[in-house]
Amino acid sequence: MAFSNEDRQKIIEALGAKRKNNVCPVCSANSWILAENFIPLSLQDVSSGLVIGGPSIPAIALVCKNCGYIAMHASKVLANLPVEGTQRD
Ligand SMILES: [Zn+2]
Repeated sequence: MAFSNEDRQKIIEALGAKRKNNVCPVCSANSWILAENFIPLSLQDVSSGLVIGGPSIPAIALVCKNCGYIAMHASKVLANLPVEGTQRD
């Protein structure tokens, strides 16, 4: 499921307001694609394996159109998303 139109608008506005440098740190291009869903960064207390259903940080990802570098922002900090009641699993 992609972002709702409302969430997508909040994200685009927050990115415009908060990202002061849009140059890719790898290739110096300046063209990004917004990944159309939250990316859960899993938090776990073991260094190997994968804990399913544990806590995570929902992230918003931008992908460099030139080299594929992925820049991520914690969605709560960037755009106060997801807010209560809109958490997606
Ligand atoms: Zn790049």
